[in-house]
Amino acid sequence: MDIVTKAPRGTADKLPAQINKWHTIEKAAARIAETYGCKELRTPTFEHTELFQRGVGDTTDVVQKEMYTFNDKKGRSITLKPEGTAGAVRAALENGLLNEALPLKLYYLTSCFRYEAPQSGRLREFKQFGVEYFGADSPMSDAELICMADGIFRFLRIENIRLEINSIGCPKCRAEYQKALKEYYVQYSEQLCDTCKERLEKNPMRLLDCKSEICHGFAEKAPIILDYLCDECKTHFDKVKKALDDMGVKYTVNPRIVRGLDYYTNTVFEFISDNCGTQGTVCAGGRYNGLVEEIGGKSVSGLGFAMGLERVIMVMDAQNADYEPAKKCDLFIAGTDEASSLYAMNLVRQLRDYGFWAECDIVGRSLKSQMKYADKLGANFSMVIGENEIQSGKAELKNMKNGEKSFVNIGDKFAEGIGSILMAIE
Ligand code: ATP
Ligand code: MG
Repeated sequence: MDIVTKAPRGTADKLPAQINKWHTIEKAAARIAETYGCKELRTPTFEHTELFQRGVGDTTDVVQKEMYTFNDKKGRSITLKPEGTAGAVRAALENGLLNEALPLKLYYLTSCFRYEAPQSGRLREFKQFGVEYFGADSPMSDAELICMADGIFRFLRIENIRLEINSIGCPKCRAEYQKALKEYYVQYSEQLCDTCKERLEKNPMRLLDCKSEICHGFAEKAPIILDYLCDECKTHFDKVKKALDDMGVKYTVNPRIVRGLDYYTNTVFEFISDNCGTQGTVCAGGRYNGLVEEIGGKSVSGLGFAMGLERVIMVMDAQNADYEPAKKCDLFIAGTDEASSLYAMNLVRQLRDYGFWAECDIVGRSLKSQMKYADKLGANFSMVIGENEIQSGKAELKNMKNGEKSFVNIGDKFAEGIGSILMAIE
């Protein structure tokens, strides 16, 4: 029989054989974020569409082309979250989190949904790990945030990633820059891609971020924002760089980074790798001082980053990085007949209460095929229980790696007694 349908295009099952990769990365990211004082926030998978229109920006690719939007049964427009920041800001405002001691530091692990052309490193459902800081204005906070992302990559021993930073100024200095950009691009206006023709009017900085080859070419010679920064923004950027230098975080300044989302101000950054397909950006972020107000709060500064976990895995795979090893079965207890199998099951339950992965036969296999199955599981130890063992209260424990055998007590305090032996194995 054929299965009813395949998984939708651009989605990927995360299979048990690979799940240790996800656990490694998710745990590392959460653990490092917690050392920076971040607390986890979980927001809904879907939000009212206007949150993203407002919070991500009407002129962005994400809002214009990539959102999964539908009407629910009451006719409300709903969107599956394409990114994590807008929901985090909404939740922080709605629940009064910004009235507590600032800075507020949050992290999240979430699926994001974007209707894009799927390719290597680009999916329609993908996983992001993100961090948001609210109420931190000083350049020290930009540096701390960048240092955290760098720390996650260092913790995972990722080496094939580089950091690029830029400042895109504040609305004041950006106005001047946008004017200069428009003047520059007007000469090419006929040759720009259709989206960029529109962007030229509404948001010329978006042109620098266009992925079409021809627009990308024009971007290379375009005026750069760093020449237009006001004194305040320039000082802010210099201090961020100084703090990164002092902490030994390596970066290069790339004046062409503008970021795809509308709400950024001042510092923007990307961690880039040549090892994640045609994509490149593994983690991206920056400061977004206008966002909280845009979504309806008072003026509170914000900054954050999001990393694409599929891309982190691609980068780690490319450099043969170590993941936490898949769990191994500690002990398989075989039974020679029904009564012994039942006895074995009770022993297994006791071991599980102590946190060991123990197994026994639950499908009615012969002794021989139980032992084959134990081998397949890669069990560290095995043990056979029969009438004799039950009567004597002792059974032979076999180390499946080196064949060594020893007798253990299977009566009272079974799990306590055997526990230290099971744990001693590498
Ligand atoms: P890109 O330039 O690759 O389209 P973006 O600017 O749209 O990225 P952001 O919105 O900044 O990406 O999202 C942060 C991170 O999430 C990206 O750096 C990337 O690692 C990951 N990401 C974004 N879109 C996808 C996707 N469709 N599939 C997998 N990962 C993605
Ligand atoms: Mg994108």
